[in-house]
Amino acid sequence: MHSDDKNSKPAGMNTRLAHIGNNPRDYHGFVNPPVVRASTVLFPDYETMRDRTQPYTYGTRGTPTTDALVEALSELEGAAGTKLVPSGLAAISVPILAFAEAGMHVLAVDSLYSPSRNFCNLVLSRMGVEIEYFDPHVGSGLSDLMRANTGIVLLEAPASNSFEMCDIPLLANIAHEQNPDCVVMMDNTWATPLFFKPLDFGVDISIHALTKYPSGHSDVLMGGISANNRTWDRLCEATEAMGICVGGDDAYLVLRGMRSMGVRLAHHQKTTLELCKWLQKHKRVSRVLYPALPDDPGYALWKRDFSGASGLFSFVISDADRDQAGLFLNALKIHGLGYSWAGYESLAVMPNFRDRVVAIGPEEGTTIRIQVGLEDTEDLMEDLERGFAALG
Ligand SMILES: *Cc1c(COP(=O)(O)O)cnc(C)c1O
Repeated sequence: MHSDDKNSKPAGMNTRLAHIGNNPRDYHGFVNPPVVRASTVLFPDYETMRDRTQPYTYGTRGTPTTDALVEALSELEGAAGTKLVPSGLAAISVPILAFAEAGMHVLAVDSLYSPSRNFCNLVLSRMGVEIEYFDPHVGSGLSDLMRANTGIVLLEAPASNSFEMCDIPLLANIAHEQNPDCVVMMDNTWATPLFFKPLDFGVDISIHALTKYPSGHSDVLMGGISANNRTWDRLCEATEAMGICVGGDDAYLVLRGMRSMGVRLAHHQKTTLELCKWLQKHKRVSRVLYPALPDDPGYALWKRDFSGASGLFSFVISDADRDQAGLFLNALKIHGLGYSWAGYESLAVMPNFRDRVVAIGPEEGTTIRIQVGLEDTEDLMEDLERGFAALG
């Protein structure tokens, strides 16, 4: 795997996940990289220190452990480089801070992860940056919203509660055509680089909550920012100026999780499709929101651009208000009530869409979002049926 055999065909995804990142020969053949905890790095002499001619210079600038994870992510994303940050939310705020300037106009999709939206509203507006939200279905209408000072277009697909898709290559193309300096960023957490590679579709910066599928075990927080050639230097400059870095123990955990990410995602995807199809036929369900369903409004875009679907979806309980939907949640025994997702255990939450500018569609009931874990489908169905029974 670590040879440069140009004649062999590219390895399959699970093979790559098993071998990317560190080279075992660098550490006496041990298959995993060492966990390096570091601030100070010693230089052998004054000249090496002056010229910085050794690979590591200080803990904030990376260690062999963080580099192993960075290498793995950059190879999966096809990126010029990747920066690690302490949470998925920081993976959104940091690249925005790297490129935002007073007087800039920023366009963001209205279905954005709400804490990202909160960052834009709170911090960007104080910096003199104007933020404007657009309908995920805007399509070629984005060109009417672009201004001469639009410096960032922020995308996410599908939306993490309402699951609208957007036409990523079309939007990235419009942004760059109308303003060549515009930086297109995308939160790609839902698909992971296994199911969608934003940089291949015209996006400049691909953002991940590594907290989710890459780690996969609900025990670590981290974000990854993977940049193309034109944005990489400025991203590095900003993260280094701001002193943002992660510890070796956490980086090790994420890399460990990534070894099984392909196998886990295949299982998450299979179970989720089974649950969605079952829910579509359920008499208390008016709608299932998941772009991998052929009758979902986002299906055509998902099918065209993505190579798989992960384990997060929503459904609408018909004729139920939020208090009734609360009875549903309280009756669940396997699904935990908690935030985050992509771990091995199933979760349920009742999202709200209060901050949306564009309506999400007919409100014919109450939306429940499910994170499908690695449990057996029949047990999860039985658990959801407990919830429906509690509705009376
Ligand atoms: C969870 C999540 C994040 C933030 O990740 P944290 O590590 O929890 O900060 C960002 N984007 C999306 C789509 C998420 O679901």
